[in-house]
Amino acid sequence: MEDCIFCKIVNGDIPSEKVYEDNNVVAFKDINPAAPIHILVIPKKHIATLLEVKEEDSYLISEIFKAINTIAKKLNIDKDGFRVIANCGKNSGQEVMHIHFHVLAGKELGDKIVG
Ligand code: AMP
Ligand code: ZN
Repeated sequence: MEDCIFCKIVNGDIPSEKVYEDNNVVAFKDINPAAPIHILVIPKKHIATLLEVKEEDSYLISEIFKAINTIAKKLNIDKDGFRVIANCGKNSGQEVMHIHFHVLAGKELGDKIVG
């Protein structure tokens, strides 16, 4: 999608610090980290919100969680643990309209959902 910031990251039109990439998924460091480790995991395909994941794209959600598993081991956060958050819509504060999963780690995140 032309004016989507995360599509531009997928295409390399704007820079990012990628930590993982495969045929379907890209993961990169959040520009404004909320924890010592804050990664965004996205499908390469533009899907605006979680409500717009169609049946034929549902495998992408599985691919994203497989990628998260790989990333957790690669970044050595598999033992101490991490939190995954996906915002959807106005009340969640979703800012970027291309679905993304936040992976937060690197400290005890406490019992607040957003860390
Ligand atoms: P959300 O509020 O769930 O839509 O989260 C959007 C996230 O994208 C925020 O945590 C931003 O810091 C992050 N973000 C926005 N632009 C960029 C960028 N160019 N590179 C990396 N992260 C970004
Ligand atoms: Zn997009």
